[in-house]
Amino acid sequence: MELAGKKILVVGLARTGVAVARFLAEAGARVTVTDMRDDEALADTLNELADLDIDYELGRHVPHSFLMADLIVVSPGVPMDIKPLMMARSQKRRVISEVELASWFIKTPMVAITGTNGKTTTTTLTGEIFRGCGFETFVGGNIGNPLIELAMSGQEVERVVVELSSFQLEGVESFHPHVAVLLNLTEDHLDRYHSFQEYIDAKLRIFENQTADDYAVLNIDDPLVAACADKLKARIFPMSRLSELEEGISYRDGFITFAHNGKVLTFGTEGFLLKGVHNLDNIMASLAATLLMRCDGDCAYQTVRTFKGLPHRMEFVAEVNGVGYYEDSKGTNVGSVVKSLESFEPGITLIAGGKDKGGSYEPLAPLVSARVSHLILIGEAKERMNEALGSLTDTHFSETLEGAVALAHKLTDPGGVVLFSPACSSFDMFKDYLERANCFKGAVRALAAEGDA
Ligand code: ADP
Repeated sequence: MELAGKKILVVGLARTGVAVARFLAEAGARVTVTDMRDDEALADTLNELADLDIDYELGRHVPHSFLMADLIVVSPGVPMDIKPLMMARSQKRRVISEVELASWFIKTPMVAITGTNGKTTTTTLTGEIFRGCGFETFVGGNIGNPLIELAMSGQEVERVVVELSSFQLEGVESFHPHVAVLLNLTEDHLDRYHSFQEYIDAKLRIFENQTADDYAVLNIDDPLVAACADKLKARIFPMSRLSELEEGISYRDGFITFAHNGKVLTFGTEGFLLKGVHNLDNIMASLAATLLMRCDGDCAYQTVRTFKGLPHRMEFVAEVNGVGYYEDSKGTNVGSVVKSLESFEPGITLIAGGKDKGGSYEPLAPLVSARVSHLILIGEAKERMNEALGSLTDTHFSETLEGAVALAHKLTDPGGVVLFSPACSSFDMFKDYLERANCFKGAVRALAAEGDA
Protein backbone atom coordinates (compact mmCIF):
# COMPACT_ATOMS: atom_id res chain seq x y z
CA MET A 1 0.00 0.00 0.00
CA GLU A 2 1.30 3.45 -0.91
CA LEU A 3 1.22 5.48 2.31
CA ALA A 4 1.68 9.02 0.96
CA GLY A 5 -1.53 11.02 1.12
CA LYS A 6 -3.50 8.23 2.83
CA LYS A 7 -5.68 9.00 5.82
CA ILE A 8 -4.32 6.76 8.56
CA LEU A 9 -5.55 6.44 12.13
CA VAL A 10 -3.13 5.21 14.79
CA VAL A 11 -4.86 3.80 17.86
CA GLY A 12 -2.84 3.90 21.10
CA LEU A 13 0.02 6.25 21.87
CA ALA A 14 2.58 4.32 23.87
CA ARG A 15 6.05 3.45 22.55
CA THR A 16 4.72 1.54 19.56
CA GLY A 17 2.11 4.17 18.66
CA VAL A 18 4.76 6.89 18.72
CA ALA A 19 7.02 4.92 16.39
CA VAL A 20 4.14 4.11 14.04
CA ALA A 21 2.92 7.71 13.95
CA ARG A 22 6.41 8.98 13.15
CA PHE A 23 6.98 6.34 10.48
CA LEU A 24 3.67 7.11 8.77
CA ALA A 25 4.00 10.89 8.98
CA GLU A 26 7.52 10.75 7.55
CA ALA A 27 6.19 8.59 4.72
CA GLY A 28 3.75 11.39 3.83
CA ALA A 29 0.54 9.92 5.26
CA ARG A 30 -2.15 12.14 6.83
CA VAL A 31 -1.92 10.82 10.37
CA THR A 32 -4.43 11.06 13.21
CA VAL A 33 -3.56 9.56 16.58
CA THR A 34 -6.19 8.60 19.11
CA ASP A 35 -5.82 7.44 22.71
CA MET A 36 -8.23 7.28 25.66
CA ARG A 37 -5.66 9.10 27.80
CA ASP A 38 -5.79 12.89 27.57
CA ASP A 39 -3.14 15.50 26.60
CA GLU A 40 -2.08 15.97 30.18
CA ALA A 41 -1.36 12.27 30.71
CA LEU A 42 0.40 12.13 27.34
CA ALA A 43 2.33 15.40 27.58
CA ASP A 44 5.81 13.82 27.34
CA THR A 45 4.80 11.60 24.45
CA LEU A 46 3.31 14.50 22.53
CA ASN A 47 6.59 16.37 22.90
CA GLU A 48 8.39 13.54 21.15
CA LEU A 49 6.17 14.03 18.09
CA ALA A 50 6.09 17.83 18.20
CA ASP A 51 8.09 18.20 14.98
CA LEU A 52 5.48 16.34 12.92
CA ASP A 53 2.19 17.37 11.37
CA ILE A 54 -0.19 15.00 13.18
CA ASP A 55 -3.81 15.41 14.32
CA TYR A 56 -4.76 14.21 17.79
CA GLU A 57 -8.00 12.90 19.24
CA LEU A 58 -7.14 12.34 22.88
CA GLY A 59 -9.21 11.42 25.93
CA ARG A 60 -11.76 9.83 23.59
CA HIS A 61 -12.20 7.92 20.35
CA VAL A 62 -14.12 9.68 17.58
CA PRO A 63 -16.22 7.09 15.67
CA HIS A 64 -16.21 9.22 12.51
CA SER A 65 -12.40 9.07 12.27
CA PHE A 66 -12.49 5.28 12.45
CA LEU A 67 -15.03 5.16 9.64
CA MET A 68 -13.21 7.64 7.39
CA ALA A 69 -9.71 6.16 7.69
CA ASP A 70 -8.07 4.40 4.71
CA LEU A 71 -6.11 2.37 7.21
CA ILE A 72 -6.22 1.87 10.99
CA VAL A 73 -3.07 0.74 12.80
CA VAL A 74 -3.65 -0.65 16.27
CA SER A 75 -0.99 -0.65 19.01
CA PRO A 76 -0.39 -3.95 20.84
CA GLY A 77 -1.94 -2.73 24.11
CA VAL A 78 -5.29 -1.88 22.54
CA PRO A 79 -7.93 -4.65 22.42
CA MET A 80 -9.14 -5.34 18.88
CA ASP A 81 -12.71 -5.61 20.14
CA ILE A 82 -13.21 -2.05 21.38
CA LYS A 83 -16.41 -0.64 19.93
CA PRO A 84 -15.02 1.80 17.35
CA LEU A 85 -12.71 -0.90 15.92
CA MET A 86 -15.55 -3.41 15.70
CA MET A 87 -17.63 -0.79 13.94
CA ALA A 88 -14.81 0.08 11.53
CA ARG A 89 -14.33 -3.58 10.65
CA SER A 90 -18.03 -4.08 10.08
CA GLN A 91 -17.82 -1.17 7.61
CA LYS A 92 -14.91 -2.90 5.82
CA ARG A 93 -12.27 -0.46 7.02
CA ARG A 94 -8.78 -1.95 6.93
CA VAL A 95 -7.57 -2.62 10.51
CA ILE A 96 -4.05 -3.97 11.09
CA SER A 97 -1.53 -4.31 13.88
CA GLU A 98 1.85 -2.64 13.96
CA VAL A 99 3.72 -5.85 13.09
CA GLU A 100 1.67 -6.19 9.93
CA LEU A 101 2.53 -2.63 8.88
CA ALA A 102 6.21 -3.14 9.70
CA SER A 103 6.37 -6.42 7.80
CA TRP A 104 5.43 -4.62 4.56
CA PHE A 105 8.81 -2.89 4.68
CA ILE A 106 11.05 -5.70 5.95
CA LYS A 107 12.40 -8.24 3.50
CA THR A 108 14.86 -9.94 5.88
CA PRO A 109 14.16 -13.62 6.73
CA MET A 110 12.19 -13.70 9.92
CA VAL A 111 11.63 -16.01 12.89
CA ALA A 112 8.33 -15.34 14.68
CA ILE A 113 7.67 -16.78 18.11
CA THR A 114 4.41 -17.16 19.97
CA GLY A 115 2.80 -19.34 22.66
CA THR A 116 1.22 -18.74 26.03
CA ASN A 117 4.54 -18.91 27.89
CA GLY A 118 8.24 -18.75 27.13
CA LYS A 119 8.00 -16.23 24.30
CA THR A 120 10.44 -13.66 25.67
CA THR A 121 12.99 -16.21 26.82
CA THR A 122 12.90 -18.01 23.46
CA THR A 123 12.95 -14.80 21.44
CA THR A 124 15.93 -13.45 23.37
CA LEU A 125 17.90 -16.69 23.14
CA THR A 126 17.13 -17.05 19.43
CA GLY A 127 18.45 -13.52 18.82
CA GLU A 128 21.56 -14.26 20.90
CA ILE A 129 22.28 -17.44 18.92
CA PHE A 130 22.01 -15.63 15.59
CA ARG A 131 24.32 -12.91 16.83
CA GLY A 132 26.73 -15.45 18.31
CA CYS A 133 26.85 -17.11 14.88
CA GLY A 134 27.76 -13.82 13.24
CA PHE A 135 24.39 -12.72 11.81
CA GLU A 136 23.44 -9.06 12.18
CA THR A 137 20.08 -9.45 13.97
CA PHE A 138 17.11 -7.33 15.03
CA VAL A 139 15.07 -8.63 17.97
CA GLY A 140 11.70 -7.03 18.63
CA GLY A 141 7.93 -7.15 18.68
CA ASN A 142 6.15 -7.78 21.93
CA ILE A 143 9.54 -7.82 23.67
CA GLY A 144 10.16 -4.07 23.73
CA ASN A 145 11.45 -2.74 20.40
CA PRO A 146 8.54 -2.37 18.02
CA LEU A 147 9.27 -3.96 14.66
CA ILE A 148 8.43 -0.67 12.97
CA GLU A 149 11.63 0.77 14.50
CA LEU A 150 13.58 -1.54 12.21
CA ALA A 151 11.58 -0.47 9.17
CA MET A 152 12.12 3.16 10.15
CA SER A 153 15.87 2.94 10.76
CA GLY A 154 16.50 1.45 7.34
CA GLN A 155 19.15 -0.66 9.10
CA GLU A 156 20.31 -3.64 7.02
CA VAL A 157 20.12 -6.81 9.08
CA GLU A 158 20.49 -10.47 8.15
CA ARG A 159 17.95 -11.95 10.57
CA VAL A 160 14.85 -10.71 12.39
CA VAL A 161 13.40 -12.37 15.48
CA VAL A 162 9.97 -11.19 16.54
CA GLU A 163 7.92 -12.07 19.62
CA LEU A 164 4.18 -11.96 19.00
CA SER A 165 1.25 -11.84 21.38
CA SER A 166 -2.20 -13.06 20.42
CA PHE A 167 -3.31 -9.42 20.27
CA GLN A 168 -0.71 -8.54 17.66
CA LEU A 169 -1.57 -11.63 15.65
CA GLU A 170 -5.22 -10.62 15.48
CA GLY A 171 -4.21 -7.76 13.23
CA VAL A 172 -2.06 -9.55 10.62
CA GLU A 173 -2.95 -9.91 6.94
CA SER A 174 0.19 -10.80 5.00
CA PHE A 175 2.77 -11.16 7.80
CA HIS A 176 4.98 -14.05 6.68
CA PRO A 177 7.76 -15.48 8.84
CA HIS A 178 10.14 -18.07 7.35
CA VAL A 179 10.16 -19.93 10.68
CA ALA A 180 7.15 -19.66 13.01
CA VAL A 181 7.33 -21.19 16.49
CA LEU A 182 4.37 -22.19 18.66
CA LEU A 183 5.63 -23.06 22.14
CA ASN A 184 2.47 -24.03 24.00
CA LEU A 185 -1.20 -23.19 24.46
CA THR A 186 -2.75 -22.88 27.91
CA GLU A 187 -5.53 -20.65 29.16
CA ASP A 188 -4.69 -16.97 29.39
CA HIS A 189 -6.32 -13.62 28.78
CA LEU A 190 -9.82 -14.97 29.16
CA ASP A 191 -10.66 -11.46 30.35
CA ARG A 192 -9.96 -10.33 26.76
CA TYR A 193 -11.28 -13.29 24.75
CA HIS A 194 -14.76 -14.73 24.73
CA SER A 195 -13.43 -18.28 24.72
CA PHE A 196 -10.18 -20.25 24.89
CA GLN A 197 -10.76 -21.30 21.26
CA GLU A 198 -10.82 -17.66 20.15
CA TYR A 199 -7.45 -17.14 21.85
CA ILE A 200 -6.03 -20.26 20.15
CA ASP A 201 -7.33 -19.11 16.75
CA ALA A 202 -5.54 -15.78 17.22
CA LYS A 203 -2.27 -17.58 18.01
CA LEU A 204 -2.56 -19.82 14.94
CA ARG A 205 -2.60 -16.82 12.65
CA ILE A 206 1.19 -16.79 12.95
CA PHE A 207 1.15 -19.62 10.34
CA GLU A 208 -1.49 -18.14 8.07
CA ASN A 209 0.72 -16.84 5.26
CA GLN A 210 3.45 -19.45 5.39
CA THR A 211 4.06 -21.68 2.35
CA ALA A 212 5.68 -25.06 1.79
CA ASP A 213 9.07 -23.27 1.72
CA ASP A 214 8.67 -22.23 5.36
CA TYR A 215 8.85 -24.05 8.69
CA ALA A 216 6.41 -24.36 11.56
CA VAL A 217 8.22 -25.40 14.74
CA LEU A 218 5.59 -27.10 16.90
CA ASN A 219 5.90 -28.36 20.46
CA ILE A 220 4.11 -31.66 19.92
CA ASP A 221 4.19 -32.51 23.64
CA ASP A 222 1.36 -30.01 23.97
CA PRO A 223 -1.74 -31.75 22.59
CA LEU A 224 -3.39 -28.49 21.52
CA VAL A 225 -0.30 -27.45 19.58
CA ALA A 226 0.09 -30.91 18.03
CA ALA A 227 -3.54 -30.84 16.93
CA CYS A 228 -3.02 -27.84 14.68
CA ALA A 229 -0.31 -29.54 12.55
CA ASP A 230 -2.74 -30.90 9.94
CA LYS A 231 -4.05 -27.47 9.07
CA LEU A 232 -0.71 -25.82 8.23
CA LYS A 233 0.84 -25.21 4.82
CA ALA A 234 4.43 -24.90 6.09
CA ARG A 235 6.74 -27.86 6.64
CA ILE A 236 6.24 -29.09 10.20
CA PHE A 237 9.38 -29.27 12.31
CA PRO A 238 8.29 -30.93 15.55
CA MET A 239 9.96 -30.57 18.94
CA SER A 240 9.53 -32.94 21.86
CA ARG A 241 10.97 -33.65 25.30
CA LEU A 242 9.01 -36.87 25.52
CA SER A 243 9.54 -38.74 22.25
CA GLU A 244 12.51 -39.23 19.94
CA LEU A 245 12.08 -37.83 16.44
CA GLU A 246 13.60 -38.87 13.14
CA GLU A 247 12.90 -35.39 11.78
CA GLY A 248 12.71 -32.63 14.38
CA ILE A 249 14.35 -31.66 17.67
CA SER A 250 14.03 -33.85 20.74
CA TYR A 251 15.50 -34.52 24.17
CA ARG A 252 16.57 -37.73 25.85
CA ASP A 253 18.77 -38.53 28.87
CA GLY A 254 20.75 -35.31 28.92
CA PHE A 255 21.04 -34.81 25.17
CA ILE A 256 19.18 -32.68 22.64
CA THR A 257 19.12 -34.14 19.12
CA PHE A 258 18.45 -32.02 16.04
CA ALA A 259 17.59 -34.18 13.02
CA HIS A 260 16.89 -32.59 9.66
CA ASN A 261 17.13 -33.96 6.10
CA GLY A 262 19.38 -36.79 7.25
CA LYS A 263 21.74 -34.50 9.19
CA VAL A 264 21.92 -35.22 12.95
CA LEU A 265 23.48 -32.98 15.62
CA THR A 266 23.56 -33.76 19.36
CA PHE A 267 24.08 -31.36 22.22
CA GLY A 268 24.72 -32.32 25.88
CA THR A 269 22.59 -30.31 28.31
CA GLU A 270 24.81 -30.70 31.38
CA GLY A 271 26.00 -27.36 32.69
CA PHE A 272 23.24 -25.32 31.01
CA LEU A 273 22.65 -22.23 33.14
CA LEU A 274 18.97 -22.08 32.19
CA LYS A 275 17.12 -24.43 34.54
CA GLY A 276 13.70 -26.09 34.50
CA VAL A 277 11.98 -28.39 32.01
CA HIS A 278 10.14 -25.50 30.43
CA ASN A 279 13.45 -23.86 29.61
CA LEU A 280 14.50 -27.04 27.82
CA ASP A 281 11.50 -26.40 25.57
CA ASN A 282 12.61 -22.82 25.05
CA ILE A 283 16.16 -23.94 24.25
CA MET A 284 14.99 -26.59 21.77
CA ALA A 285 12.74 -24.06 20.05
CA SER A 286 15.60 -21.57 19.74
CA LEU A 287 18.01 -24.19 18.45
CA ALA A 288 15.46 -25.44 15.93
CA ALA A 289 14.75 -21.96 14.59
CA THR A 290 18.39 -20.95 14.29
CA LEU A 291 19.71 -24.23 12.90
CA LEU A 292 16.95 -24.22 10.29
CA MET A 293 18.20 -20.77 9.32
CA ARG A 294 21.80 -21.72 8.68
CA CYS A 295 23.44 -21.30 12.07
CA ASP A 296 26.42 -23.50 12.75
CA GLY A 297 25.74 -26.15 15.45
CA ASP A 298 28.91 -25.57 17.52
CA CYS A 299 28.43 -21.82 17.47
CA ALA A 300 24.78 -22.08 18.49
CA TYR A 301 25.69 -24.47 21.31
CA GLN A 302 28.25 -22.03 22.76
CA THR A 303 25.56 -19.38 23.11
CA VAL A 304 23.01 -21.76 24.64
CA ARG A 305 25.51 -23.00 27.25
CA THR A 306 26.26 -19.53 28.51
CA PHE A 307 22.74 -18.04 28.35
CA LYS A 308 21.63 -17.05 31.86
CA GLY A 309 17.97 -16.34 31.19
CA LEU A 310 16.02 -13.19 31.95
CA PRO A 311 15.09 -11.41 35.16
CA HIS A 312 11.66 -11.96 36.78
CA ARG A 313 11.38 -15.50 35.49
CA MET A 314 12.17 -17.73 38.44
CA GLU A 315 14.96 -15.38 39.43
CA PHE A 316 16.88 -16.26 42.57
CA VAL A 317 16.75 -13.26 44.95
CA ALA A 318 18.44 -14.28 48.21
CA GLU A 319 18.81 -16.97 50.82
CA VAL A 320 17.54 -16.07 54.29
CA ASN A 321 17.89 -18.56 57.18
CA GLY A 322 18.48 -21.45 54.78
CA VAL A 323 15.42 -20.62 52.67
CA GLY A 324 15.80 -19.65 48.99
CA TYR A 325 13.56 -16.83 47.74
CA TYR A 326 12.60 -16.84 44.04
CA GLU A 327 10.84 -14.07 42.16
CA ASP A 328 8.66 -15.13 39.21
CA SER A 329 6.55 -12.01 38.75
CA LYS A 330 6.32 -12.92 35.06
CA GLY A 331 4.42 -16.05 36.05
CA THR A 332 1.17 -14.31 35.14
CA ASN A 333 -0.93 -17.34 34.21
CA VAL A 334 -1.62 -20.83 35.50
CA GLY A 335 0.46 -22.61 32.82
CA SER A 336 3.62 -20.76 33.78
CA VAL A 337 3.12 -21.41 37.52
CA VAL A 338 2.75 -25.13 36.77
CA LYS A 339 6.22 -25.04 35.21
CA SER A 340 7.71 -23.02 38.04
CA LEU A 341 6.32 -25.44 40.66
CA GLU A 342 7.63 -28.40 38.64
CA SER A 343 11.10 -26.89 38.87
CA PHE A 344 11.35 -27.23 42.69
CA GLU A 345 11.23 -30.15 45.14
CA PRO A 346 8.37 -30.36 47.70
CA GLY A 347 8.59 -27.92 50.62
CA ILE A 348 7.57 -24.83 48.65
CA THR A 349 5.86 -21.81 50.16
CA LEU A 350 3.95 -20.34 47.24
CA ILE A 351 2.87 -16.70 47.21
CA ALA A 352 0.27 -16.22 44.48
CA GLY A 353 -2.65 -14.02 43.47
CA GLY A 354 -3.24 -10.65 41.85
CA LYS A 355 -5.70 -9.56 39.19
CA ASP A 356 -7.92 -12.46 38.21
CA LYS A 357 -7.99 -13.21 34.47
CA GLY A 358 -11.04 -15.43 34.60
CA GLY A 359 -9.40 -18.82 33.91
CA SER A 360 -9.47 -21.95 36.05
CA TYR A 361 -6.93 -22.50 38.85
CA GLU A 362 -7.64 -26.27 38.90
CA PRO A 363 -4.55 -27.20 36.80
CA LEU A 364 -2.45 -26.10 39.79
CA ALA A 365 -4.18 -28.53 42.17
CA PRO A 366 -1.98 -31.66 41.73
CA LEU A 367 1.25 -29.68 42.15
CA VAL A 368 -0.08 -27.70 45.10
CA SER A 369 -1.04 -30.98 46.81
CA ALA A 370 2.30 -32.60 46.06
CA ARG A 371 4.78 -29.77 46.51
CA VAL A 372 3.32 -26.72 48.28
CA SER A 373 3.57 -26.79 52.10
CA HIS A 374 2.17 -23.28 52.57
CA LEU A 375 0.08 -21.19 50.20
CA ILE A 376 -0.20 -17.44 50.76
CA LEU A 377 -2.79 -15.65 48.64
CA ILE A 378 -2.92 -11.95 47.82
CA GLY A 379 -4.95 -9.61 45.62
CA GLU A 380 -8.29 -9.67 43.92
CA ALA A 381 -8.03 -13.35 42.93
CA LYS A 382 -7.47 -14.68 46.42
CA GLU A 383 -11.04 -15.88 47.07
CA ARG A 384 -11.29 -17.78 43.79
CA MET A 385 -7.83 -19.28 44.26
CA ASN A 386 -8.76 -20.28 47.78
CA GLU A 387 -11.88 -22.06 46.50
CA ALA A 388 -9.82 -24.09 44.04
CA LEU A 389 -6.69 -24.72 46.12
CA GLY A 390 -7.23 -23.70 49.76
CA SER A 391 -8.29 -27.13 50.99
CA LEU A 392 -5.19 -28.81 49.52
CA THR A 393 -2.57 -27.27 51.78
CA ASP A 394 -2.00 -24.87 54.66
CA THR A 395 -3.46 -21.64 53.22
CA HIS A 396 -3.29 -18.02 54.39
CA PHE A 397 -4.42 -14.61 53.09
CA SER A 398 -2.34 -11.44 53.12
CA GLU A 399 -3.44 -7.90 52.28
CA THR A 400 -0.04 -6.88 50.95
CA LEU A 401 2.89 -8.53 49.19
CA GLU A 402 5.26 -7.33 51.93
CA GLY A 403 2.98 -8.99 54.50
CA ALA A 404 3.02 -12.19 52.44
CA VAL A 405 6.83 -12.22 52.46
CA ALA A 406 6.93 -11.71 56.23
CA LEU A 407 4.44 -14.56 56.69
CA ALA A 408 6.40 -16.83 54.33
CA HIS A 409 9.51 -16.12 56.38
CA LYS A 410 7.72 -17.28 59.55
CA LEU A 411 6.21 -20.40 57.98
CA THR A 412 9.03 -21.83 55.87
CA ASP A 413 11.50 -24.31 57.34
CA PRO A 414 15.21 -24.14 56.43
CA GLY A 415 15.89 -26.09 53.24
CA GLY A 416 12.58 -24.94 51.76
CA VAL A 417 11.86 -22.43 49.05
CA VAL A 418 9.66 -19.34 48.90
CA LEU A 419 8.33 -18.86 45.39
CA PHE A 420 6.45 -15.76 44.32
CA SER A 421 4.67 -16.88 41.17
CA PRO A 422 1.32 -15.09 41.04
CA ALA A 423 -0.65 -16.86 38.22
CA CYS A 424 -2.36 -13.49 37.76
CA SER A 425 -1.59 -10.08 36.31
CA SER A 426 -0.47 -7.30 38.62
CA PHE A 427 -2.83 -4.44 37.87
CA ASP A 428 -5.03 -4.74 40.97
CA MET A 429 -2.17 -3.75 43.30
CA PHE A 430 0.70 -2.56 41.11
CA LYS A 431 1.48 -0.54 37.98
CA ASP A 432 2.93 -3.59 36.24
CA TYR A 433 4.80 -6.84 36.79
CA LEU A 434 8.05 -4.92 37.23
CA GLU A 435 6.79 -2.85 40.16
CA ARG A 436 5.40 -6.04 41.68
CA ALA A 437 8.77 -7.78 41.19
CA ASN A 438 10.63 -4.93 42.85
CA CYS A 439 8.21 -4.91 45.77
CA PHE A 440 8.87 -8.62 46.37
CA LYS A 441 12.62 -8.25 46.03
CA GLY A 442 12.65 -5.21 48.33
CA ALA A 443 10.79 -7.15 51.02
CA VAL A 444 13.14 -10.14 50.70
CA ARG A 445 16.24 -7.96 50.83
CA ALA A 446 14.90 -6.23 53.92
CA LEU A 447 14.51 -9.65 55.55
CA ALA A 448 18.03 -10.59 54.53
CA ALA A 449 19.35 -7.32 55.98
CA GLU A 450 17.50 -7.97 59.28
CA GLY A 451 19.09 -11.42 59.37
CA ASP A 452 22.55 -9.89 58.99
CA ALA A 453 21.98 -7.19 61.64
P1 ADP B 1 6.27 -14.85 27.89
O1 ADP B 1 7.07 -13.84 27.15
O2 ADP B 1 5.52 -15.79 27.00
O3 ADP B 1 5.45 -14.28 29.01
P2 ADP B 1 8.65 -15.56 29.44
O4 ADP B 1 9.82 -16.12 28.73
O5 ADP B 1 8.68 -14.13 29.82
O6 ADP B 1 7.34 -15.85 28.58
O7 ADP B 1 8.35 -16.44 30.73
C1 ADP B 1 7.24 -16.11 31.57
C2 ADP B 1 6.99 -17.20 32.58
O8 ADP B 1 6.49 -18.35 31.93
C3 ADP B 1 8.24 -17.64 33.32
O9 ADP B 1 8.25 -17.02 34.56
C4 ADP B 1 8.13 -19.14 33.48
O10 ADP B 1 7.57 -19.44 34.74
C5 ADP B 1 7.10 -19.53 32.43
N1 ADP B 1 7.66 -20.22 31.25
C6 ADP B 1 8.73 -19.85 30.52
N2 ADP B 1 8.89 -20.67 29.47
C7 ADP B 1 7.90 -21.58 29.51
C8 ADP B 1 7.51 -22.68 28.70
N3 ADP B 1 8.18 -23.02 27.60
N4 ADP B 1 6.40 -23.39 29.07
C9 ADP B 1 5.70 -23.04 30.14
N5 ADP B 1 6.01 -22.03 30.97
C10 ADP B 1 7.10 -21.29 30.66
